[in-house]
Amino acid sequence: MHLQFTPEELAFQTEVRTWIAANMPKEVAEESRRSRSSHVSRERLIQWQRILAAKGWLTPNWPKEHGGPGWNSTQKFIFEMEMARADSPYLSSFSLKMVAPVLMKYGSDWQKQRFLPAIARAEELWCQGYSEPGSGSDLASLRTRAVRDGDDYIVNGQKIWTTNAHWADWIFCLVRTSTEGKPQEGISFLLIDMKSPGIKIDPIYLVDGTRTPMRHEVNQVFFDNVRVPAKNRVGEENKGWTYAKYLLEFERGGQAHGPRLRKSLRHLDDLAELWVKDGKPLSTDPAWREKMAALRIEIDAVEMNELAFYSSLKGGDSPGLQASVVKMRGTEVGQKITEMAVEAVGNYAQPFSELRNYDSNVVPVGPGYSDDAAPRYFNQRKTTIFGGSSEVQRNVLAKAMIGL
Ligand SMILES: Cc1cc2nc3c(=O)[nH]c(=O)nc-3n(C[C@H](O)[C@H](O)[C@H](O)COP(=O)(O)OP(=O)(O)OC[C@H]3O[C@@H](n4cnc5c(N)ncnc54)[C@H](O)[C@@H]3O)c2cc1C
Repeated sequence: MHLQFTPEELAFQTEVRTWIAANMPKEVAEESRRSRSSHVSRERLIQWQRILAAKGWLTPNWPKEHGGPGWNSTQKFIFEMEMARADSPYLSSFSLKMVAPVLMKYGSDWQKQRFLPAIARAEELWCQGYSEPGSGSDLASLRTRAVRDGDDYIVNGQKIWTTNAHWADWIFCLVRTSTEGKPQEGISFLLIDMKSPGIKIDPIYLVDGTRTPMRHEVNQVFFDNVRVPAKNRVGEENKGWTYAKYLLEFERGGQAHGPRLRKSLRHLDDLAELWVKDGKPLSTDPAWREKMAALRIEIDAVEMNELAFYSSLKGGDSPGLQASVVKMRGTEVGQKITEMAVEAVGNYAQPFSELRNYDSNVVPVGPGYSDDAAPRYFNQRKTTIFGGSSEVQRNVLAKAMIGL
């Protein structure tokens, strides 16, 4: 399947491609290529985000009144394609695609002025404090407590799986402000400075084996009598569940998966050209070719679905229920690619993992997945869990469609 862009769209694509090639620092692309999930260190992320910000391209999904470039859905899709093609790391979704839309819709004037420009200029990075031990899928059962004390709240409790908490400047946090009524009715949405006294952060190392200090992804965050100004509460007290669900639509539907899937598929094709099975390149093996054909069809379906969906949204619209479909299928097909890579290289899947990731003197033996297929495979298990697991997305859809 080939998308036909108009001459204007092709010109836009050339403009974006040329600009990225000229402006994305080599070290940013290198680090992204070596990482297991196209994520880079804080230093590199800020470096690249500031360059994009200066060009006005850091916030393609923001409405124009908040500094977005005013692109239509095809232009946004082309931009995502070209970013993936150039091995750009993922930008800070927590900042740009999650907390920002919530502040635009529900934030006070002070919050909009204080936080949105700092995000748009890549001066501050955010992390997400939703999940707690025992409160993941059943998020409304969360227990981290915020008690009002004059002009402040005093926060006590624990968050878990907090991605990038070790280098974030701010955390948006769901806290319990009431135990009356339904659990959903006693939650508030607080913006907390990560430098506040009483916050402690412990790393969690994932099954992919990354144990390099500061290169890990997730953490536990403990709050011990943390004082938070009440003006940092978004919207009304005890109405945080509404804002939390709105944010989840952006978490699930804020990312087009198609461009990254295509890029990974190209790596897999390269790998199958190089990898020899029974004296011939794996790419000539009929069983492999059949599986690759099925995978291509699944990627086409994801991409078509995403294109139809994103073109139906106007700038600033929330993704709604369709976000669950996009999240579920995009991540599941992404995992299949990593499964195929492990299948291709078998017990060669994990020879140099940690070294190859972060030491620029270690040269990959082949493109893409050839020498760290297993760590990538393990790392990608997370994608069908975070942001609401695939099972939970299916529940959401079933409930909406057939009222279960
Ligand atoms: C790498 C990683 C990064 C993460 N980053 C963040 C972050 O930055 N911020 C944050 O707040 N959270 C984050 N999370 C947490 C994530 O949102 C939760 O892990 C997720 O919501 C699942 O919750 P849980 O881990 O408590 O599992 P559980 O909710 O205990 O689920 C366990 C299993 O049971 C299934 N299950 C649960 N309920 C149902 C049901 N009703 N019907 C059918 N099946 C069900 C689930 O699908 C899953 O397979 C991250 C998680 C991971 C793994």
